[in-house]
Amino acid sequence: MTDVQTDRATDRIAFTREEPYPLVIGGAEVTTEETFDAIDPSVGRPWARLAQAGPEHVEAAVTAARGALTGWRRSTPAQRQALLDAIADRIEADPEWPALLATENGRPIREAAMADVPTAAGIFRYYAGLARATDGDHVATGDPGLRVWTQREPVGVIASLIPWNSPLISTALKLAPALATGNTVVMKPSEFAAASVVEFGLRTRDLIPPGVVNVLTGFGPDAGAALVAHPGIDKISFTGGIPTARHILHAAADQITPAILELGGKSAFVICEDADLELAVADALMGIAFQNGQVCFAASRIFLHEAIRAPFLTRFAERLAEVRIGDALDPATQVGPLVSAAHRERVAGYVERAVAQGATLVTGGKVRQLGGDQADGFYYEPAIVEDPDGSTLVSREEIFGPVTTVQTWSDEADVIARANGTEFGLAAGVWTRDLARAHRFADALEAGTIWVNTWFDLVPGQPLGGVKASGYGREMSAETLLEYSVPKAVAMRLSSERPELWG
Ligand code: NAD
Repeated sequence: MTDVQTDRATDRIAFTREEPYPLVIGGAEVTTEETFDAIDPSVGRPWARLAQAGPEHVEAAVTAARGALTGWRRSTPAQRQALLDAIADRIEADPEWPALLATENGRPIREAAMADVPTAAGIFRYYAGLARATDGDHVATGDPGLRVWTQREPVGVIASLIPWNSPLISTALKLAPALATGNTVVMKPSEFAAASVVEFGLRTRDLIPPGVVNVLTGFGPDAGAALVAHPGIDKISFTGGIPTARHILHAAADQITPAILELGGKSAFVICEDADLELAVADALMGIAFQNGQVCFAASRIFLHEAIRAPFLTRFAERLAEVRIGDALDPATQVGPLVSAAHRERVAGYVERAVAQGATLVTGGKVRQLGGDQADGFYYEPAIVEDPDGSTLVSREEIFGPVTTVQTWSDEADVIARANGTEFGLAAGVWTRDLARAHRFADALEAGTIWVNTWFDLVPGQPLGGVKASGYGREMSAETLLEYSVPKAVAMRLSSERPELWG
């Protein structure tokens, strides 16, 4: 069974599990012949084994979800509300989540406790409130003999595929609105953070009717690809990278399966000369160090007004250099390891190439070698790279790591054009004390979320999603219910009169 135990050699409190994690299909634990390792990035060694789903498991999960749909779509709004509230209660009451999340992907345990757990519970609670607000509309016909209305119905079986950086929050974002509107779900977590989603399935199994939520673990190009191509899937809800989104949309095209896509970002963080510099530095630090920099909303392109370039960079570098890098399970750690050795190599490669092409490394950007039990962990020092004309790849591609780039500006129209000069459109922000200027930037920046004098403020109810290649569809808000339900229009004639078309 799962258990939080002390590793006696080091006193680190890691999450452990002896037997391989199963799949969760139709409310049952299903084991597979093939399994794969879950790696604890803080120490660079396996901590658990996971079931590896094959095509037969994909088939079984879709069949279970389809079977459960008949009953769940008839559940009352009150029953859905009660279930979502009960899931939120269960998450909040469970003290093991922070250690599990930190062991799984290197998320600092204090962030897991302060952000992941309450946010995930909050999302379930938000949709518990909305579960009774899924009504249709009355349509005014102007004809006393004709009534027209819409009723909203569930889409059906949803395939939800999520990335590895915030698996509990992503699970809440996918499940809560889908269940609130009467759908059933097959969840496919990332191979780099699957255990917490299986734990979610196991820890809520007594609350959720069998088959309403199924969890398939395995590799994206195998289990993930088979799931999105399955004709029994009514909608795909995907959060992840643009290359994967392209694969998924090709598969979806063959089945005419609709999709919600929440993709990557390369978010612009514009600091004006009248900004409160100390606050802007604090937000920039959060923007690139939070979640070890492995977050779609990372503030990865900073545009400094030329008048404040020097003082800002000095202070930002000082504060970034003070950040405590260490084992994700240590409550003092502010930046944990990157998720894998290969990812650290990829992140480091971006910085090395940028410097080779003429960019300047202001601080960080090196592998951090720790000792003892953490000697094989995947640590990396958050980096600031000054790339004056934003021409190197480090300024243009999503790195998904703790690397931010700096450019300088003096003309407002020019910085807006440069901030928008990217294929991404997830988030953008401006720091200024001038209200009119804040409005001008908010109007002109092309992104799904605009932050003014803040970064990462995200509350349930605030639509989450991107424009341009950052995707389409919105999560975390009331309009998400429209993504997971379809309107059925009913036209009813009350009179026996008919138009005289043929006589
Ligand atoms: P990824 O695209 O590699 O994987 C995402 C999911 O897709 C995983 O479950 C994976 O197993 C699956 N997958 C991979 N190949 C597949 C295929 N061929 N067919 C079907 N499924 C497949 O992304 P990642 O590396 O896990 O996460 C990082 C990306 O996620 C970044 O681009 C980041 O910006 C994005 N992200 C976006 C948001 C958002 O809300 N917009 C939030 C978090 C992360």
